[in-house]
Amino acid sequence: MAEQLVQQAFGNILPSSDFTLTQALLVSSFFLAVNFPNIAINPPVAESVNTEYDFIVVGAGSGGAVVASRLSENPDFSVLLLEAGGKASKISDIPFYGGVLQLSESDWNYTSEPNSEFCLGMKNRACPYARGRVLGGSSVLNHMFYARGTKEDFDEWAALGNYGWSFDDVLPYYKKSEDNRNYLLAKNAFTFPQMTMRDGFRCSTSKAFLVPAGERENLDVFTHAHVTKVLIDAASKRAYGVRYFRNGAYHDVFARKEVVLSAGVFNSPQLLMLSGIGPKEHLKEIGIPLIQDLRVGFNLQDHFGYFMPFLVDKPVAFVPERYNNHLTNMTYDIYQKGGRICLELMETKAFREVNGRHPYVPLPTCPNVLPLSEEYFDCFMRYNTQPFLHGSGTSKMGPANDPTAVVDPELRVHGISGLRVADTSIMPKIISGNTNAPAIMIGEKASDLIKKTWEKKEVKGSQEGY
Ligand SMILES: Cc1cc2nc3c(=O)[nH]c(=O)nc-3n(C[C@H](O)[C@H](O)[C@H](O)COP(=O)(O)OP(=O)(O)OC[C@H]3O[C@@H](n4cnc5c(N)ncnc54)[C@H](O)[C@@H]3O)c2cc1C
Repeated sequence: MAEQLVQQAFGNILPSSDFTLTQALLVSSFFLAVNFPNIAINPPVAESVNTEYDFIVVGAGSGGAVVASRLSENPDFSVLLLEAGGKASKISDIPFYGGVLQLSESDWNYTSEPNSEFCLGMKNRACPYARGRVLGGSSVLNHMFYARGTKEDFDEWAALGNYGWSFDDVLPYYKKSEDNRNYLLAKNAFTFPQMTMRDGFRCSTSKAFLVPAGERENLDVFTHAHVTKVLIDAASKRAYGVRYFRNGAYHDVFARKEVVLSAGVFNSPQLLMLSGIGPKEHLKEIGIPLIQDLRVGFNLQDHFGYFMPFLVDKPVAFVPERYNNHLTNMTYDIYQKGGRICLELMETKAFREVNGRHPYVPLPTCPNVLPLSEEYFDCFMRYNTQPFLHGSGTSKMGPANDPTAVVDPELRVHGISGLRVADTSIMPKIISGNTNAPAIMIGEKASDLIKKTWEKKEVKGSQEGY
């Protein structure tokens, strides 16, 4: 019985070896206590696929699920969505239980390279870097904060030569997918913190976009299909399909119109390089024949921070109104100063009343630094580094005259036809907030650009690519 419950709760995710029986039982008892709504979290998946589609989308994450869903709104388009992972388990539906899925089968289990500058307190001096490998991608594992980014973020993208990406241009795409049921929040461009939730449960992009599209006959969602290469005709430089690995064998599937890569910040650039698109010196070094020399994989950006623990002697609770006032008045002048601000907070009346204090512990990498000195904060930051998992920028968007750009402002890979990228890797500059909402917006905008290209051509009767 207990085994059955665990199986029901975890579905296809295999808890890692660090996952103890106690944890499994705790989670399954939580599962029993939760009254799950009868809403599907996964779309129907195909058992086999055709040899050819109009569009092939690689990766069913925050960006890709939106692209596949929106393109298949047009019944004249046939769409294949290939996902390396499987279905999401019910446990992912419970808000903030995403952490349980990290290091499981639903995570790519990436880590940063071991190094001597940061993540020094981690195993092998390397930070784990979670990425969803599941229908819904990282939107199944994430912490569900929903933030659009600021006007300045997108106006800067536009100023870099990316026409159509100013805040006024992208705002309609945010609104299109938000389905915000609070009319006051829905009206505002500037909002309070919000979450990707529905009826108290997680709303991944699989639940929001693929489930409603699931019954469409022109959309096939194929799981456990790991794409290893985009097929590109070297002479015409046109993408015409992809190769994927499934059930121990390689298979080719062909695209009549376009291939869209939405495999995320690491896997989209990896796929481009495996397909001959990348920095020529690097491709030569690893023996991949060059098709297009582009700065793929450069420009990786993320937010990072560190968590400073504080001890208190009495129970504390956040009062929402005061919490908001605090945040809006506070300027986060980066890391070292951030640590000082936290310490100053401990001097406020509220924290003094509960004896708030930082438990100074000498750090193994710098045992002799003076407690709470600049060197201490520097060491603390390098020891307790926390990547915020907002990786972006590795297939940078920019105009043709930007030598570092990989895709143009319509997300088409420079120099190649029939191939676009639609995920956080296209961000020319990381936005100042979290990245899930922008990834969804990028998916919305990409599908609109693609529809505009092909619906126009269909009217004229042309089958030519762009
Ligand atoms: C633990 C965690 C917490 C986070 N918290 C927040 C938060 O609270 N708020 C927020 O806004 N952002 C958060 N983020 C970041 C945010 O979720 C991501 O930036 C966003 O989901 C990325 O979307 P994407 O479309 O670029 O990629 P993903 O959503 O990662 O999608 C990529 C998809 O492609 C698939 N794929 C990859 N390679 C292949 C291949 N070769 N073949 C087939 N399929 C492939 C993957 O399996 C995956 O499903 C968090 C991320 C993580 C991991």
